[in-house]
Amino acid sequence: MDATLLRWIELAAIIVVGIAGAFSFGRILWTQRIGHIWPKRGEIKIVNKAGLITGIAEVALQTRVIANRPIAGIIHLVIFYGFVSFGVKSAMHVFSGIMGHTHPVSLGPVDGFLDVISVLVFIACVLMAIRRFVFMRDRLTHMLESGIVLGLISGLMVTYILERPFGLDLGLEGTAAKVNWWVHYLILCGFPSLIAYGKHLHLLVAPLNVVLKHMTELPSDRPISGGDFEMPEDEDLFEAEYARVGMPNGVADFSFHSLFDTAACIECGRCNDACPSAEAGLAPRDHFVLSLRDPSVDSEGLAELITPDILATCTQCRACDTVCPVGNRPSKAGLEIRGRMSFEGMYPVPGITEGAAPVTATGNLFGEGPEAREKLIADNTIPIYDHAQHNVLLILGCQGANSPELQPIVTATTKLLELAEVPFGVLPKESCWGEALVHGGGLMEDWPFWKMERIEELDTALDGDRERTILTICPHCRDSIGTQYADAGEVFSSVRSHVEFLASLVRDGKLVMEKKAESVATHHPCKMIHNDESKYMDELLDAAGVTAFTAGKSPNIPSCCGGGGGGFLWDSPAKVNRDRWDELAATGQKKVVTSCPGCHRMLDVAKSEDGELTDISNVIYDRVMAARAAKAKSAGSQTDPSTDAQASSDEQSPS
Ligand code: SF4
Ligand code: SF4
Repeated sequence: MDATLLRWIELAAIIVVGIAGAFSFGRILWTQRIGHIWPKRGEIKIVNKAGLITGIAEVALQTRVIANRPIAGIIHLVIFYGFVSFGVKSAMHVFSGIMGHTHPVSLGPVDGFLDVISVLVFIACVLMAIRRFVFMRDRLTHMLESGIVLGLISGLMVTYILERPFGLDLGLEGTAAKVNWWVHYLILCGFPSLIAYGKHLHLLVAPLNVVLKHMTELPSDRPISGGDFEMPEDEDLFEAEYARVGMPNGVADFSFHSLFDTAACIECGRCNDACPSAEAGLAPRDHFVLSLRDPSVDSEGLAELITPDILATCTQCRACDTVCPVGNRPSKAGLEIRGRMSFEGMYPVPGITEGAAPVTATGNLFGEGPEAREKLIADNTIPIYDHAQHNVLLILGCQGANSPELQPIVTATTKLLELAEVPFGVLPKESCWGEALVHGGGLMEDWPFWKMERIEELDTALDGDRERTILTICPHCRDSIGTQYADAGEVFSSVRSHVEFLASLVRDGKLVMEKKAESVATHHPCKMIHNDESKYMDELLDAAGVTAFTAGKSPNIPSCCGGGGGGFLWDSPAKVNRDRWDELAATGQKKVVTSCPGCHRMLDVAKSEDGELTDISNVIYDRVMAARAAKAKSAGSQTDPSTDAQASSDEQSPS
């Protein structure tokens, strides 16, 4: 056949294969993965432009990927860079074929670099295959797809190496070179469709998701659907409103971030490994991410994938979010599933419903009346907040105010505030601020009204001054007032935790502690880790001379007590508190210090007979009183006998 005709036929084939590959990629991507997410892009709220830099840095250095699994992370890093580098090289490759060149267009010194990379990527593919099919075959998913992808990447590398190894003219020539080019080109055109179809879409989406995570402010939670449903008069608007809070269209109704996470997920299972409720059957990867991948799944289908009793075991600890290498937040998707299923009447589970029921009757999370709180205030002469006199409004919360085993936390904190001469007061009465209920899914319908009532109470007490310091003993109350109300546009700008506040008093010299060697295990509440506040408990213990042993995977990965996400309200089969106590006991320490009444409650029922549990406020109180007693003693009884008497009478901790 005429060489020119052959050349034209080859060119036509190149174009047809190229268009077919591009069309197939675009179609799969749009119809199965992205088309239903794209219209929701308006939900992205960019609030941190500088996050673009930190996000790109995280992608470039793959820090998170390497942090949790160094060996797999480094192998991934090599493949990732190989993938990026060969984007350029492959473009040159296609160009050379179109132009009828025997060898790819030279990129000068870059060729040598890419030659080295191609060998490294090939080796990385072999190692990945060994890891996947030999060592991890029981834990990883999509074995066939991954095997094909590794085979295709290896194929690209091998065909590239055969073309012109290390810039030397030692590669294939003539027909062999042509066949080699076509193998390379066919892989190149078919590969994107496989990427669009399967989990390897993360190669394109994950870097974007990581950058988005750095740039977007997700509210503390994704929309708690259902409670704020408003029946519109117009029928068309009804559909939109229903889709906003429920699931008339099934999975396709979920928010941008929940759906985008499904495209970014590399299905590594790190989140499953980190989940404290895993033994009860909860798997955030499968239940909160992959369950939302197929937009054609309806609400019934979703309820089959994740049953309410499994859903209820999520403690909202966010360990899953913390370890995810691609910026996914399975915990938030889990919360959104709770909200939408709740609206559809498919959640909550009876345990949580019953647990939450008393709150609407009594205002208290545990259905307790106001008597215990009133007695606590009277017995300790805790002042009632007066806006003209007090700088700080102290929120006691349901747990610290009412439960006998938790009231010492309130007592110690209020005494410390008095000793530091902080003008403070408490509300004459308090209702649950809502976090535990809303996370548990127990107050969905009443939530908007409940929240507004609490906000009005605060406004009345504070005389509308939303910059006045609100100090919370419980980090769950802090989350309600400081974050959930702010998400709804009701911003109280100075909501502080008792740990951070006490640390500032010690730092400023308003509280002086005796420094004495002691060792304890510390349980950092998840909410403190979420708000980067664990450091204050560490700072206080350090200032007191206490050596703190942390237990768990890492100080930055929440290790849950089991109380979050409504866990306080029911007897969850996950028994997270027992596992956590065992973890703490494994440090060899008898005494455990924490800084959240909720954690205290959960660990108290799990602790061993010889275990001791206390709040950081009690530790500080003891040390402050010891310092005062020592000071009084050294000053001599002749100076002021009453000081000594006072100090020694106060020496006993409220605990
Ligand atoms: S959500 Fe993140 S941690 Fe979990 S499997 Fe997907 S990529 Fe891995
Ligand atoms: S938030 Fe905690 S309990 Fe819930 S899925 Fe994530 S790791 Fe598991």
